[in-house]
Amino acid sequence: MATIFSKIAAGEIPCYKVAEDEHYFAFLDINPMAKGHTLVIPKHEVNYMFDLDEEEYAGLWAFARKVAMALEQAVPCKRIGVAVLGMEVPHCHIHLVPLQTEKDMKFGNKVSVPAEEMQAIADAIAAKM
Ligand code: AMP
Repeated sequence: MATIFSKIAAGEIPCYKVAEDEHYFAFLDINPMAKGHTLVIPKHEVNYMFDLDEEEYAGLWAFARKVAMALEQAVPCKRIGVAVLGMEVPHCHIHLVPLQTEKDMKFGNKVSVPAEEMQAIADAIAAKM
């Protein structure tokens, strides 16, 4: 059965899309811990990051780097924090989180961002890609 993230990448479930190429996809986390919190996934469904083959693993991080560079231009921050957990969704993903302070990178933190602002943030990041 397809994961929720596969369905998002396939356009079957809505998301605030940031970027995609043939193999990778980026979209805003629906429960952001900071404004601009973005998830980057391989379209190929693999649960555990370190089960990706070397080529796909390197490609995922290269794509995440491009997204992070766009994100830091679009969302005011000191730097982009990076995390990989995968405790909730069994489809590997990189969390990119715009940080003002280290406290912004705290799992369990949730900021409330209205839908229009989520869309505006996604569009602003996409415009910098
Ligand atoms: P984890 O698997 O522990 O890295 O966490 C999964 C992340 O996916 C959490 O930050 C969720 O807020 C996020 N998430 C779950 N469902 C969706 C969705 N439909 N759209 C965007 N983000 C999601």
